[in-house]
Amino acid sequence: METLFIGKFPAMKKRIYLDYQATTPVDSRVFEVMKSHFCEHFGNPASRHEFGWEAENAIATARKQTADLIGAGAKEIIFTSGATESINLALKGIAEAYSGKHIITAMTEHKAVFDVCKTLEKRGFEITFLKPNRDGQISPKQVEEAVREDTFLISLMHANNEIGTIYPVAEFGKIAHKNDIIFHVDAAQTVGKIPVNVANMNVDLLSFSGHKIYAPKGVGALFVRRKNPRIRLAPQIHGGGHERGLRSGTLNVPGVIGLGKACEICAVEMQTEATRIAKLRKQLLDGILSNMEGVAINGTMENRLDGNLNLTFYGVDSETLILSMKEIAVSSGSACTSATIEPSHVLKALGLSNLQARSSLRLSIGRMTTADEIDFVTQQIENAVNRLRHRKH
Ligand SMILES: *Cc1c(COP(=O)(O)O)cnc(C)c1O
Repeated sequence: METLFIGKFPAMKKRIYLDYQATTPVDSRVFEVMKSHFCEHFGNPASRHEFGWEAENAIATARKQTADLIGAGAKEIIFTSGATESINLALKGIAEAYSGKHIITAMTEHKAVFDVCKTLEKRGFEITFLKPNRDGQISPKQVEEAVREDTFLISLMHANNEIGTIYPVAEFGKIAHKNDIIFHVDAAQTVGKIPVNVANMNVDLLSFSGHKIYAPKGVGALFVRRKNPRIRLAPQIHGGGHERGLRSGTLNVPGVIGLGKACEICAVEMQTEATRIAKLRKQLLDGILSNMEGVAINGTMENRLDGNLNLTFYGVDSETLILSMKEIAVSSGSACTSATIEPSHVLKALGLSNLQARSSLRLSIGRMTTADEIDFVTQQIENAVNRLRHRKH
């Protein structure tokens, strides 16, 4: 098992990647369609000549592929540099274009939403941060009860990046629309993994990212509803008026083309991939629980992304655990906050103590994960946890 070779990716030899919720490798089929757009078909889609038209056509295809995956119209897709930028444009853009004082979001949101809301709070807006239950879930009733006369925006994620909880966004959307409130969804963890349909979900704005779905980093999209109702946004980046004036700046053409291709692949393979990944997660969870004591699951197992596991190993510091498993890449809490030593704000919102949050691991399974890797990881975790627990006493 020491020289485990991970077939498709020579660079990943002897290393096992179980951190697909932090980022994914680029799918070779995605890379293939991007390649010619660096040195050969390098035109600026805004140019009025052959080079430009070539790029413009390729962008149009990507826009359609991206829109199709979420049930949107091509004109409703704004390409950005990633989910963080999409979220900033959506939330700040709405806050500047509409009147109203109150915003509803949740304590479990990704920092990209959480910190934008904190910034808007400093600008004078009032924010309600909904608290999840012990399982990580937020109910439509909580959203309904938080609605005020001056609420103009609700921003809630489709699925959580740490604990994988899938939220009832269609229900949230109904409440928003019944009250004439704009509804934004951070869907960075769900687009391409579970069905997302902006019409059925009553969503006005939806943010997602390329590098979570096997496209490159530095590209993402924002869905902006064009009718029933037509959403207005104040642009946050001004310049040449690209992307319907909402996001100036020359597009990342190869990146956008990669995102389009990645969306097309997801549309075709989502179902079979989800089934395969769910099986691997079951293998991982059963393997860990049947051989070890003192392990708790964070977040509900009922409405949960297939590829996600978040576990607390009592009596073990997760940073030490990660360092002691050199061949395995997993995350302690959220990757986005692991630069700081702060315990995960999501786990704390669930009611975990600092110590419990610091004893937790997020394992995320993806397209290239194999059953052999899962077996190896199960064994490594068991060995490492036992070793660390004995060292302590
Ligand atoms: C990754 C992620 C983001 C940020 O996406 P970037 O493309 O890295 O900016 C936002 N929200 C969630 C839920 C994510 O998982």
